[in-house]
This record gives sequence, C-alpha cells and structure tokens, in this order.
Amino acid sequence: MSGFKTTLIDCQKCGRRIMVRAADAERGSIACSHVGCGAINRLQMPFHYDENIVKGLPGFGLLTYMGNPNTTYSLRFGNNSIGTADSCAVQVDRFVHNGRCFISRRHCTLTVTFDKWTGQLRYQLQDGAPDSLSQMIQYSLNGTLLDGTRLQKTEMIDVCNGGIITLGGLDRFQLTHYSIAPAMLDTYKVELDFNPDRTQ
Ligand SMILES: [Zn+2]
Repeated sequence: MSGFKTTLIDCQKCGRRIMVRAADAERGSIACSHVGCGAINRLQMPFHYDENIVKGLPGFGLLTYMGNPNTTYSLRFGNNSIGTADSCAVQVDRFVHNGRCFISRRHCTLTVTFDKWTGQLRYQLQDGAPDSLSQMIQYSLNGTLLDGTRLQKTEMIDVCNGGIITLGGLDRFQLTHYSIAPAMLDTYKVELDFNPDRTQ
C-alpha cells in the first residue's frame, strides 16, 4: 500500500485512541494497545470500485414473469417503476385472472444502484411508485411480496439474485442480477488511503 498515512481511530471496545500503521491496514485488523483492553479492531478494506464502471455495462438485470407467457423485462440503472402504465420504466402486461388484473398501474419500484465497496449492483424493492406528475409515492392496491413476505409501506428491501417478487398476490416475477465480471472490476479498483470512518 503506497501513500498510507498513519491514522488514529477510536477503539471499538474501550473508546481510547489507537494508532493505525500501514502494516495494520494491510492486515485488516489492529489490537488495541491500551492496558486491560487488547480488543481486536477490524479495519475496512482500503479500496473501492469506481462507479463509472456502470457506464460500460451491457445490462442491469432482468425480471422474468413466472407464468405463461414467460416474458422477460430489462431493468435500467436507477429507479425502475413497475406496473401496467406506459409511464413505467418496466411496463408489464395486464395479466388477467378471472377477468381481473391485480397489478396496479404504478405498482412498485425496483432501484438498481452500484455498491462501490462490493463492486456489484444492488437491487432494492419498495411497494408503490412516485406518481409521474406529483412525484408523491402511490402504493399499490393489492400489495407487493418479496419471497412470500409482504412489504410494509415505506419499507425498502434488498432483493437477492433469484428473488421472487409477487405483484397483487398472483403474478410472480424472478429477478436475475447482472453480475460484473471480476476481470472488468479489477480495472476499476481505486486504492484508498485508510479511511477510519469505514472501520467496523
Ligand atoms: Zn481498547
């Protein structure tokens, strides 16, 4: 690690200051030097990934309808409003069950962001979507479930690869993450000076 400056952190156990040197940052941990403590303080990895990597990605994941027909919808970076309205980023078909469609015009929102610490895309789901005019969140009529559990209003939950999103209680969609290849990630790695705010 070049350019490392000696830094002081607060011990996570006793709260007293400890000096972190380059060797500690490389090892990823430091033992508290204060008498009677000795707690092992873990240090965050001293690099992240440049989020400009997302500009070169060919896709941002897919939602696949788990019914007939087996339609696939592409996601974009940022907010994906999902519903039957043509103003939605992901406009799904009006799937009809006994003459009724249970998906709202603007039903839920799947947000795709880049996690610079893991170097992968992050997918977060919430019920409802901002109204296209007022920008006020409007909740779905029949609810949104993630892996069988109903989302509370205002709740925002991470969706793992293969996670099942159910709209209106009947229509199921499976999320496929877009996975960034390790070789590409390596070229976007940014070495950092050790940042004490990232200790855990
Ligand atoms: Zn200590």
